[in-house]
Amino acid sequence: MTVGVHPLAGFDKLLHYRVPEAMSADIAVGSLVRVPLLNTTRLGIVGEIGAPKDFPVDRLKSLVQVVHPFPALPPDLLRLARWMAGYYACGLDSIIETMLPAAVRNGAVVKHEKLLAIARKLAPDETAALAKKAPQQARLYAFLEQQFRPQAKALVLERLGLTAAVVTALVKRGIVREEVRRVERVAYADDFAHGELVASQPHALNAEQAAAVAALDASIAENKFGVTLLHGVTGSGKTEVYLRAIHTALQTGGGVVFLVPEVALTPQTVARLRSRLEAIAPGHKCVVWHSHLSEGERFDGWLALATGEARVVVGARSAIFAPVQDLRLIVVDEEHEPAYKQDETPRYHGRDVAVMRAKLAGAICLLGSATPALESFANAQSGKYKLLELRQRVDARKLPHIDIVDLRIEVMRQRGMSSLSRKLVDAMQARFARKEQTILFINRRGYSSSMLCTKCGHVEECPHCSIALTYHRSDEMLRCHLCGTQKPAPARCPKCAAPDIRWKGLGTQRVEEAVRRVLPRAKIERMDTDAMSKKNRFREVLADFRAGKIDVLVGTQMIGKGLDFPNVTLVGLVDADISMHVPDFRANERTFQLLVQVAGRAGRGDRAGEVIVQTFTPQAEAIQFSRHADFAGFAASELKIRKDFSYPPYRHLIHHLFRGPNPEKLKFFAEQWAKLVEKELGDRVELRGPSPSPIEKIKDEYRWQLWYFTHSVTKVVPELARLREGFAWPDDITQVFDVDPMNLA
Ligand code: ADP
Ligand code: ZN
Repeated sequence: MTVGVHPLAGFDKLLHYRVPEAMSADIAVGSLVRVPLLNTTRLGIVGEIGAPKDFPVDRLKSLVQVVHPFPALPPDLLRLARWMAGYYACGLDSIIETMLPAAVRNGAVVKHEKLLAIARKLAPDETAALAKKAPQQARLYAFLEQQFRPQAKALVLERLGLTAAVVTALVKRGIVREEVRRVERVAYADDFAHGELVASQPHALNAEQAAAVAALDASIAENKFGVTLLHGVTGSGKTEVYLRAIHTALQTGGGVVFLVPEVALTPQTVARLRSRLEAIAPGHKCVVWHSHLSEGERFDGWLALATGEARVVVGARSAIFAPVQDLRLIVVDEEHEPAYKQDETPRYHGRDVAVMRAKLAGAICLLGSATPALESFANAQSGKYKLLELRQRVDARKLPHIDIVDLRIEVMRQRGMSSLSRKLVDAMQARFARKEQTILFINRRGYSSSMLCTKCGHVEECPHCSIALTYHRSDEMLRCHLCGTQKPAPARCPKCAAPDIRWKGLGTQRVEEAVRRVLPRAKIERMDTDAMSKKNRFREVLADFRAGKIDVLVGTQMIGKGLDFPNVTLVGLVDADISMHVPDFRANERTFQLLVQVAGRAGRGDRAGEVIVQTFTPQAEAIQFSRHADFAGFAASELKIRKDFSYPPYRHLIHHLFRGPNPEKLKFFAEQWAKLVEKELGDRVELRGPSPSPIEKIKDEYRWQLWYFTHSVTKVVPELARLREGFAWPDDITQVFDVDPMNLA
């Protein structure tokens, strides 16, 4: 027997090896093995059984070890890895490495043994027939039949002097069953159980929830690939629907992946999910999976899934690679979240990969959001995805009222920029007097800046690309970083001639100080990545806030997700413009999502909530549609713009970044390359650029970029990869290739 192995050695190749007889029983596609390589040994993943025709098999080296008696990558994951390598234009090795926890890649093992048991008792005449046709199989059967419990495979074979092939034959015929048992038990990764425990009782479903659950149950029962988009307003009880679907999938014997954005992965959410899951599906352990686990914890969870001991995983982006067996359902909560996109190689999108894995595994993929990504929504409209809707909040609670404050007027009134408008200050003071709580959101800032006139709200945009122009300080230019259009940065606003048109937004710290000035006796906490760098600080602050020890919480979106604070009756968004006027065609979508999600934080208890949004551009559609949480209206208007400019979802975008120490050389090669692509692939891609990146220089390295627009990634990416191999790149130019980038600013 021979196998092709992908070694985990920093290169992308399939190498062939011979499998010693004693190891052959444990080998499958996806097995983790140790192979000789040069004069050392390396781990690798079995990619195929057998070797190409006419392969010089006698000269092959032998495998050294089969690390686990089960595949480290189930077949659907290995196929997913191959698809990702092609789609995202990166090496299969880098993807396999991403899929395996570090401990597994480093060869950690827990001792396992395989057990043999009788799967089906034979009738006397069958036993006789077997003895005649296959005496060795009959001997094994007779032995096992006499035992009270499953027997260690290795011992049985040795004792009876049989080979693994005999077992395989009996397993194939359904007479004998193999089981994997862990010899040393490992403690269960359970850190999260110690988080704040939130009692979570099953709710009686309301009519909309019940209809959604029924539809999902039907889809799961079909047992084939399908994608459902669950669009439910904030507070409509989507989680309850997910949990019921998960229960159904488990009951039918399947496995489940439940993805949440990293920011939502608080002990509170996990504890709640886990206790609900364990209540709804008793006996099921829920593995938690995310980047902050220790290697040992991650390994335990991985092992529990790979051996089938656990069948549910809840986790952030990378949990999509958990080795869940017999995958039946993938849930992607808050599917619109940009956090699902990984911003280092492999630059995959967790939601898109989830859909693909579901396809390869023949499972259901359930995407849920109050503000679906327009890509997903367009798929639902075209009928590619099934659409389910929850239009009501549970208990018919009202969506909070959204007040828009026009900062242009505020600037005039207060003679200059101040971070808090009169209205917001009044509202905060009223809350403080009533012992109710306030959350103030501040947009996380992109690093590039655009120009916004604080007098009239004018923003300079590219006429060809409909995105904000980027201000480049080095040469005082405004540049479109999609198409490269440029012009000198104006000293005065082109529309109203006001002199001050360079508003750059506010930091969380400045807002915190402003709040202290107007509420000197209140307890105020700031929550942003700086303030939260200390371990457990995040947890503490949330616990204090929930306990009512904090009056005002100031922070970036990291406060928002998945949290439910009944005493919060006021939510303020200090700077809606920051997300709206970044040079990104998704800027409106992001702003709409932010506003709707932020508003969803207010008034979850029995008191009505109020939301105050401050902006220089109150007329913007993202703001107007969000006032009534009108997703359909927003989607229709925004999709039209996307269509007019052929942006996603109507075409795919690929970003190609060039970096190097010499700006002239960089420009030269970027342009030569663009010419080549234009000539070879001009019929399939539209190029924009090359042009300097919004940040032209980082750590003495200059940056240029090129954009490709295309209808078909799979028709273009392999061609680009091929051209790139044949192009004479100088050594000091490095490149980054990003398919379906989520962040353009
Ligand atoms: P969403 O994710 O849609 O914003 P959640 O799933 O967080 O909403 O649910 C909002 C709140 O409503 C939660 O506290 C949840 O426990 C509660 N809830 C969900 N379903 C019901 C129901 N059928 N009846 C009463 N409360 C419910
Ligand atoms: Zn442009």
